[in-house]
Amino acid sequence: MTTDFKNETGFNIKNRRIAGPELEPTVTTSDELWMEEALRAAQRALEAGEVPVGAVVVRNGEVVGRGWNRNVAERDPAAHAEIVALREAGANLGNHRLEQCELFVTIEPCAMCAGALVHARIKRLVYGAEDPKAGAVSSVMTVVNHPQLNHQMDVRGGVLAGRSAELLQTFFRQRRAK
Ligand code: ZN
Repeated sequence: MTTDFKNETGFNIKNRRIAGPELEPTVTTSDELWMEEALRAAQRALEAGEVPVGAVVVRNGEVVGRGWNRNVAERDPAAHAEIVALREAGANLGNHRLEQCELFVTIEPCAMCAGALVHARIKRLVYGAEDPKAGAVSSVMTVVNHPQLNHQMDVRGGVLAGRSAELLQTFFRQRRAK
Protein backbone atom coordinates (compact mmCIF):
# COMPACT_ATOMS: atom_id res chain seq x y z
CA MET A 1 0.00 0.00 0.00
CA THR A 2 1.27 3.48 -0.74
CA THR A 3 0.26 6.70 0.87
CA ASP A 4 0.21 9.92 -1.05
CA PHE A 5 -0.85 13.15 0.57
CA LYS A 6 0.49 16.60 1.24
CA ASN A 7 0.95 17.77 4.78
CA GLU A 8 0.72 21.41 5.75
CA THR A 9 4.38 22.21 4.95
CA GLY A 10 3.90 20.84 1.47
CA PHE A 11 6.41 18.02 1.82
CA ASN A 12 4.95 15.03 0.06
CA ILE A 13 4.75 11.78 1.91
CA LYS A 14 4.80 9.16 -0.75
CA ASN A 15 6.23 5.71 -0.86
CA ARG A 16 7.83 5.14 -4.18
CA ARG A 17 10.67 3.22 -5.60
CA ILE A 18 12.67 4.48 -8.54
CA ALA A 19 14.87 1.75 -9.90
CA GLY A 20 18.39 2.47 -11.05
CA PRO A 21 19.97 0.44 -13.84
CA GLU A 22 21.58 -2.15 -11.57
CA LEU A 23 18.90 -2.75 -9.04
CA GLU A 24 20.24 -4.99 -6.33
CA PRO A 25 18.16 -6.85 -3.80
CA THR A 26 18.02 -4.71 -0.70
CA VAL A 27 17.11 -5.44 2.87
CA THR A 28 14.33 -2.97 3.52
CA THR A 29 14.45 -3.35 7.28
CA SER A 30 17.98 -1.90 7.45
CA ASP A 31 16.84 1.11 5.38
CA GLU A 32 14.50 2.09 8.18
CA LEU A 33 17.25 1.66 10.76
CA TRP A 34 19.67 3.91 8.85
CA MET A 35 16.90 6.42 8.33
CA GLU A 36 16.50 6.50 12.10
CA GLU A 37 20.16 7.59 12.24
CA ALA A 38 19.47 10.32 9.68
CA LEU A 39 16.43 11.43 11.71
CA ARG A 40 18.61 11.69 14.82
CA ALA A 41 20.96 13.95 12.87
CA ALA A 42 17.97 16.03 11.73
CA GLN A 43 16.94 16.37 15.36
CA ARG A 44 20.38 17.89 16.10
CA ALA A 45 19.72 20.50 13.41
CA LEU A 46 16.32 21.29 14.92
CA GLU A 47 17.91 21.81 18.34
CA ALA A 48 20.47 24.15 16.77
CA GLY A 49 17.79 26.24 15.04
CA GLU A 50 18.67 24.94 11.57
CA VAL A 51 16.22 23.51 9.03
CA PRO A 52 15.93 19.92 10.35
CA VAL A 53 17.42 17.72 7.67
CA GLY A 54 19.84 14.90 8.50
CA ALA A 55 21.94 12.47 6.49
CA VAL A 56 24.23 9.48 6.98
CA VAL A 57 26.62 7.78 4.58
CA VAL A 58 26.80 4.01 5.09
CA ARG A 59 29.40 1.60 3.78
CA ASN A 60 29.43 -2.13 4.57
CA GLY A 61 26.91 -1.68 7.34
CA GLU A 62 28.83 1.11 9.02
CA VAL A 63 28.26 4.87 9.23
CA VAL A 64 31.24 6.63 7.61
CA GLY A 65 29.73 10.10 7.37
CA ARG A 66 27.05 12.02 9.21
CA GLY A 67 25.64 15.50 8.73
CA TRP A 68 22.81 17.87 9.43
CA ASN A 69 22.06 21.30 8.06
CA ARG A 70 24.61 23.85 9.29
CA ASN A 71 23.90 26.82 7.02
CA VAL A 72 23.30 29.26 9.86
CA ALA A 73 26.12 28.02 12.12
CA GLU A 74 28.72 27.92 9.34
CA ARG A 75 27.34 30.89 7.39
CA ASP A 76 27.63 28.53 4.46
CA PRO A 77 24.95 28.26 1.76
CA ALA A 78 26.34 24.85 0.77
CA ALA A 79 26.26 23.29 4.26
CA HIS A 80 23.32 21.00 3.64
CA ALA A 81 23.15 17.71 5.58
CA GLU A 82 24.14 15.64 2.53
CA ILE A 83 27.17 17.80 1.71
CA VAL A 84 28.38 17.69 5.33
CA ALA A 85 27.93 13.88 5.43
CA LEU A 86 29.66 13.36 2.04
CA ARG A 87 32.64 15.50 3.12
CA GLU A 88 33.02 13.51 6.32
CA ALA A 89 32.78 10.20 4.42
CA GLY A 90 35.39 11.35 1.89
CA ALA A 91 37.76 12.34 4.69
CA ASN A 92 37.17 9.08 6.61
CA LEU A 93 37.66 6.86 3.58
CA GLY A 94 40.46 8.95 2.06
CA ASN A 95 38.65 9.13 -1.28
CA HIS A 96 36.38 11.64 -3.00
CA ARG A 97 34.67 8.75 -4.81
CA LEU A 98 32.19 6.93 -2.61
CA GLU A 99 31.25 4.14 -5.00
CA GLN A 100 30.45 1.54 -2.34
CA CYS A 101 28.40 3.90 -0.23
CA GLU A 102 24.71 4.51 0.34
CA LEU A 103 23.36 7.86 1.47
CA PHE A 104 20.28 8.16 3.69
CA VAL A 105 18.68 11.59 3.96
CA THR A 106 15.44 12.68 5.57
CA ILE A 107 14.12 14.64 2.55
CA GLU A 108 14.54 14.47 -1.20
CA PRO A 109 17.89 16.12 -2.09
CA CYS A 110 18.02 19.54 -3.78
CA ALA A 111 19.85 20.11 -7.07
CA MET A 112 23.14 20.98 -5.35
CA CYS A 113 23.12 17.85 -3.17
CA ALA A 114 21.89 15.62 -6.00
CA GLY A 115 24.81 16.91 -8.10
CA ALA A 116 27.24 16.13 -5.27
CA LEU A 117 25.83 12.59 -5.01
CA VAL A 118 26.52 12.10 -8.71
CA HIS A 119 30.07 13.50 -8.38
CA ALA A 120 30.67 11.19 -5.42
CA ARG A 121 29.43 8.19 -7.48
CA ILE A 122 27.14 7.17 -4.64
CA LYS A 123 25.79 3.67 -5.19
CA ARG A 124 22.37 4.10 -3.62
CA LEU A 125 20.21 6.94 -2.33
CA VAL A 126 17.43 6.48 0.22
CA TYR A 127 15.33 9.47 1.25
CA GLY A 128 12.30 10.26 3.37
CA ALA A 129 9.74 12.92 2.38
CA GLU A 130 9.55 14.39 -1.10
CA ASP A 131 10.28 18.09 -1.50
CA PRO A 132 7.88 19.58 -4.06
CA LYS A 133 9.64 22.96 -3.83
CA ALA A 134 13.25 21.91 -4.48
CA GLY A 135 13.49 18.14 -4.89
CA ALA A 136 15.95 17.10 -7.60
CA VAL A 137 15.21 13.37 -7.79
CA SER A 138 11.75 13.65 -9.30
CA SER A 139 9.66 16.42 -7.71
CA VAL A 140 10.97 19.60 -9.39
CA MET A 141 13.71 18.30 -11.65
CA THR A 142 15.66 15.15 -12.35
CA VAL A 143 19.33 15.44 -11.49
CA VAL A 144 19.72 11.98 -9.95
CA ASN A 145 19.48 9.40 -12.75
CA HIS A 146 19.12 12.02 -15.47
CA PRO A 147 19.25 9.93 -18.67
CA GLN A 148 22.20 11.90 -20.03
CA LEU A 149 24.40 11.38 -16.99
CA ASN A 150 26.84 8.49 -16.93
CA HIS A 151 26.46 7.73 -13.28
CA GLN A 152 23.18 6.13 -12.26
CA MET A 153 22.20 5.03 -8.77
CA ASP A 154 19.55 2.94 -7.10
CA VAL A 155 16.96 5.18 -5.43
CA ARG A 156 14.30 4.53 -2.83
CA GLY A 157 12.07 7.33 -1.54
CA GLY A 158 9.39 7.57 1.12
CA VAL A 159 11.25 5.81 3.95
CA LEU A 160 9.90 7.05 7.30
CA ALA A 161 8.62 10.05 5.35
CA GLY A 162 6.01 10.98 7.94
CA ARG A 163 8.66 11.33 10.63
CA SER A 164 10.91 13.61 8.58
CA ALA A 165 7.98 15.77 7.46
CA GLU A 166 6.90 16.03 11.10
CA LEU A 167 10.31 17.43 12.09
CA LEU A 168 10.11 20.03 9.33
CA GLN A 169 6.56 20.93 10.37
CA THR A 170 7.72 21.43 13.96
CA PHE A 171 10.51 23.72 12.77
CA PHE A 172 8.34 25.89 10.54
CA ARG A 173 5.59 26.06 13.16
CA GLN A 174 8.11 27.26 15.77
CA ARG A 175 9.50 29.81 13.35
CA ARG A 176 6.06 31.18 12.56
CA ALA A 177 5.33 31.51 16.27
CA LYS A 178 8.40 33.73 16.81
ZN1 ZN B 1 20.69 20.15 -0.56
